[in-house]
Amino acid sequence: MEADNEIPLTARDRGGRVFIPVVHEVLSRRVCQKKWKNIAAAGGAGELVVKTQDSRQLFENILERARALDPANTRKWFDDLVLESFDGGILHIGCPDAAIAQYLHDRCLAAFTQAAQNVTGHLVSVQFRPVRVGAEPIIPATVQSGVKLHPDYNFDNFVVGPCNRLAHASCIAVSQNPGAIYNPLFLYGNVGLGKTHLLHAICHESLRNKPTLSVQFLNCEVFVNGFISAIEKGQLADFQNLYRSVDVLIIDDVQFLRQREQSQEEFFHTFNALYNNRRQIVLTADSAPADLQSLEERLISRFKWGLVARLDAPSYETRIAIVKKKASLRGLDLPEGVAELIAEHIKSNIRELEGALTIIYATARTAQSPITLNLAKQALGFQDNPTAKSLSMGDIIAAVSESFDVRITDLQSKKRSQSITLPRQLCMYLARTLTRHSLEEIGGHLGGRDHSTVLHACTKVEQLYKSDANFRSRIDKLTTHITRGM
Ligand code: ADP
Ligand code: MG
Repeated sequence: MEADNEIPLTARDRGGRVFIPVVHEVLSRRVCQKKWKNIAAAGGAGELVVKTQDSRQLFENILERARALDPANTRKWFDDLVLESFDGGILHIGCPDAAIAQYLHDRCLAAFTQAAQNVTGHLVSVQFRPVRVGAEPIIPATVQSGVKLHPDYNFDNFVVGPCNRLAHASCIAVSQNPGAIYNPLFLYGNVGLGKTHLLHAICHESLRNKPTLSVQFLNCEVFVNGFISAIEKGQLADFQNLYRSVDVLIIDDVQFLRQREQSQEEFFHTFNALYNNRRQIVLTADSAPADLQSLEERLISRFKWGLVARLDAPSYETRIAIVKKKASLRGLDLPEGVAELIAEHIKSNIRELEGALTIIYATARTAQSPITLNLAKQALGFQDNPTAKSLSMGDIIAAVSESFDVRITDLQSKKRSQSITLPRQLCMYLARTLTRHSLEEIGGHLGGRDHSTVLHACTKVEQLYKSDANFRSRIDKLTTHITRGM
């Protein structure tokens, strides 16, 4: 290991040569040479051989292990991390930007540390730090109020649909030209529809355009608590200076001002000071300004001075696009039908769409199998939901008959021609996976086959499903079609 005292002494002096097994070549060589001097000073002789592992390979192993340990926080951009150095028992991991370094530190430190220890076999610790690319300044990971910017919450990762088009466009306009166009910008909508995501995106984008911009981004609760504590400590002037001197003030969830008259008063003056100096104000709430009951009228009217944009629940198509976007962020390949499956079942809160992806990913990893539509159904328990039970044999037979262009009566007959056997076997397989019918019942609907014939059919279809990509895609589409029709 790199720390002087961690280099294994047993490796010393073997036939005149000193082998020192190390993990990271460049730094280890330096440490080893120091060690070597000590050995030489103590009367040792021979030649120093530093035997290294390939550090790139080592780091890839660590990443792979960290992914396995923490699937929920795994992101595709893990591929962009680099092993910067390995010194004094500390693994320094270089990150594309400060927000990513912060994210890893907050959420993934335990997984990376354990991964590094497993892979190296030593008690190492891990540190994440942003690496400067070219002359680009490092954009801070936190804004002045200490809110940590989430690296995923940027404009690129925000899916635009009819439900959020105006909100998205106005946030982009504001971050390109703060204080100039929509002031204040007021976003509102139910929980989980992307308000906070857009606020982070404004911070990322406006700081990328102008790193020296002073941006205060905080939850309204923090504003209220800060105000109360400033009064208690007699530091009101500091509090007021803090918020009245910024270029951009972003306050999330202003509905929190309800019934807090004194905080409303303070906020009113902050608002005026910023507005009069043409500083940008961005606010979010769970309802429209007019519906923020028990808020002072003068505040409500100010909220409406600029642009008020509503976020609605996403449509089915937008939900599919969001699931696909979130999957690609995690580096997941979703086969046909999986995004549709999630989007069909989870409608109101986008956060839950992400939870579904995590479950599918973790299940696939545990089963050491690729993600398939059936695996996704099992992972999410959708096969057991009440609607699935109500799917009838008739629905399945009708869908297969249509898709393979064979007659329903033929599927239900004893005919054995090749063109009918496979569609019939498929009916058995789909009935087995999508309904609660017993093998006997399924066989009964399909020409009076016995249970072993149905089992044989299911095995055959499963094998084809695994080995034939075209067949798989066809089955996934058909399954989606059948379940959507429920
Ligand atoms: P809110 O603040 O409105 O309650 P959030 O901004 O916290 O909602 O969003 C909840 C989750 O949904 C976040 O992970 C966010 O990235 C995601 N999300 C919401 N809308 C979108 C969208 N249009 N595109 C991509 N992700 C979205
Ligand atoms: Mg929010």
